[in-house]
Amino acid sequence: MSTAAPSAGRTELVEQLDAWITGHADLLEAHREHDPRSVEQTAENERELQRLLFEDGWTRWGWPEDCGGLGGDATNRAVLYDRMGAHGYVLPELLGVVETLGPMLIEFARPIAQAHLAALLRGDEMWCQGFSEPNAGSDLASLRCKATQDDDGFVVNGQKIWVSLGHVAQWCVLLARTGSQESAHRGISMFMVDMSLPGIEVRPIRYANGRNELSELFFSDVRLPPEALIGEAGAGWNVAMYLLQWERGMYAWQRQAWLHKRLDDLVVGLGSDAGAQADRLGDVYLDLASLRATCARTVAALARGESPGPEISVDKLLLGAGEQSVIDAAIELLDADMALSPEAAGWRSDYFYARAATIYGGAAEIQRGIIAQRVLGLPREVRSGR
Ligand SMILES: Cc1cc2nc3c(=O)[nH]c(=O)nc-3n(C[C@H](O)[C@H](O)[C@H](O)COP(=O)(O)OP(=O)(O)OC[C@H]3O[C@@H](n4cnc5c(N)ncnc54)[C@H](O)[C@@H]3O)c2cc1C
Repeated sequence: MSTAAPSAGRTELVEQLDAWITGHADLLEAHREHDPRSVEQTAENERELQRLLFEDGWTRWGWPEDCGGLGGDATNRAVLYDRMGAHGYVLPELLGVVETLGPMLIEFARPIAQAHLAALLRGDEMWCQGFSEPNAGSDLASLRCKATQDDDGFVVNGQKIWVSLGHVAQWCVLLARTGSQESAHRGISMFMVDMSLPGIEVRPIRYANGRNELSELFFSDVRLPPEALIGEAGAGWNVAMYLLQWERGMYAWQRQAWLHKRLDDLVVGLGSDAGAQADRLGDVYLDLASLRATCARTVAALARGESPGPEISVDKLLLGAGEQSVIDAAIELLDADMALSPEAAGWRSDYFYARAATIYGGAAEIQRGIIAQRVLGLPREVRSGR
């Protein structure tokens, strides 16, 4: 167990964490890149790292003690994510899921967080997020997957798509309609669904990088107990909006740490040619610096218990731009066969993920619309002919 404590102050935490990382260089050496071969392989390799970080306390700081944490606010978690990247190591991919779903469970379904959060942090469980449907992505409030309440709980019927880690997850945080179709965002509820329940069919979707990153889920008369409900019936939209601010804030912070590490990899890969590419590398650095500064402000607000509001769409836009800026520069500038060489498999995988960064968690066009109307106060677009 580490001796670092949030109450010791940020500088001490960073110093103790840096010392721990340096002292564990031999164990961490296998974790300089995500395994590009398969989601299953990545999860397997990174489970070892997750256990190590959990056993030594590092992933427990910043989470409440009754949920398996060691206390302190969310900035303690942000320090860990940042220092892992700064030392050139990956952050286990599942910690992205933890940051998206964990704070929401603590806020709206504490008993579920008490029962499951430590298992997720330690890598013993995987969770997924079942929100999108074939005809309800950007327009999520039109979702049709139905949860009908009866005396024993709820019965779910419908379909979800583009579910990250859906085929390997043991639990799914599901958005389903409990009101009428016309009730739109007011008739939606959120549930914690045990993926081993009868009536759930999972079909993996192969992503362009060759990995089964995503899945389709089909629910046929799936019976959920009443305690599967997260928050209040009909209040799932508010729960989802609370969750999204963590996905857009803290997940983006995790990625900025990784992207800074990727920029370092690019500079090292360029070697003596780096000087000739100073302008391009400088532009990439500025993209990441703006992402980092914006996310830092958001994470600090979230840690204080504030809700950042619609301006958090700026974080999401900067994340997409930052991902594509670094990875596109690497693909263009590095002297490697990016299409085929086995050595470039990590960059290839990052390239495909960078394409998705302007889609998942809310497409870039939608974020621009939110910023235009709700942050800048611009009028809605009026199309000619209507
Ligand atoms: C890698 C990846 C992982 C994902 N993981 C998950 C997950 O774990 N769980 C989950 O539930 N979902 C997940 N998604 C789905 C994601 O949330 C949706 O893809 C996203 O919300 C967009 O929805 P859509 O795909 O239905 O596209 P659509 O909503 O059909 O949009 C298609 C295009 O039209 C544009 N568009 C739509 N409406 C407007 C508008 N009003 N104004 C301007 N342009 C508009 C969009 O910006 C987009 O370019 C994931 C997606 C990806 C790529």
